[in-house]
Amino acid sequence: MMRTILAATDGSAAAQKAIELASDLAAKYQARLVLVHVLHHRGLPELKVEQLATVPEAYRPAVADVAAMLAGTVDRSSETGAALRRALDLSGQQILDEAAETARERGAKDVTVSLQEGDPVRRILECAEREKADLIVVGSRGLGDLKGLFLGSVSHKVSQLATCSCITVK
Ligand code: ATP
Ligand code: MG
Repeated sequence: MMRTILAATDGSAAAQKAIELASDLAAKYQARLVLVHVLHHRGLPELKVEQLATVPEAYRPAVADVAAMLAGTVDRSSETGAALRRALDLSGQQILDEAAETARERGAKDVTVSLQEGDPVRRILECAEREKADLIVVGSRGLGDLKGLFLGSVSHKVSQLATCSCITVK
């Protein structure tokens, strides 16, 4: 019996595939679908500017700050750092909004989103435990750009450490 499915997205095309499969399964099994995105500070320097390019107009200046921060010229505790923080939260929310829209379009009826912060692997696994997920769905790769690898570090660790079934979507 598949009651709850958790799908994790970092906003990448690979994660989108995971969201699509998870949504189809949720629709088929009439399962609850929990969509998770984890904002991770350590990953900030690796964050792609494109990921933030979709933030609403009013926050566009903050995107420029992101670029500056990526280049290592902005202090995260400054006012600019705070604006950046807001832009990040918004980008995370936006990633989840889009994932939820995909899920509903594909017939998932019971969809919730969860914006987390911290280590992606830990947060995804904690969320799966908390929500009593029967299945975790992740993409095989994400925003990282080590193209030669078959699996990213998050999908690798999640599938190794998960106590429920886990599908890695390619
Ligand atoms: P790496 O991060 O190791 O350089 P990568 O970015 O290509 O490699 P992963 O990060 O393992 O690959 O991403 C694989 C999948 O894990 C994604 O498709 C997504 O489903 C999930 N994932 C990765 N990061 C996050 C995150 N911050 N929040 C939610 N899900 C994530
Ligand atoms: Mg990654």
